[in-house]
Amino acid sequence: MGLFNRLLDKDLTLQCPSCRAKLVRKGSWVKSVAIFTCERCGEKVRLSYSEKLEIFRRGASN
Ligand SMILES: [Zn+2]
Repeated sequence: MGLFNRLLDKDLTLQCPSCRAKLVRKGSWVKSVAIFTCERCGEKVRLSYSEKLEIFRRGASN
């Protein structure tokens, strides 16, 4: 998808739904990851396709 491919080298911000900690990762990481572990609270966060899309949309607009 074009939106994903344009932002592979860009820093995108994710937020842990449990503790609200912000995590910055490259677009390529966000695109390929399915589950990540929050560094602050240890929560395993699952990223759905629609959530990834939302992260990329936000990244594209700033
Ligand atoms: Zn957390």
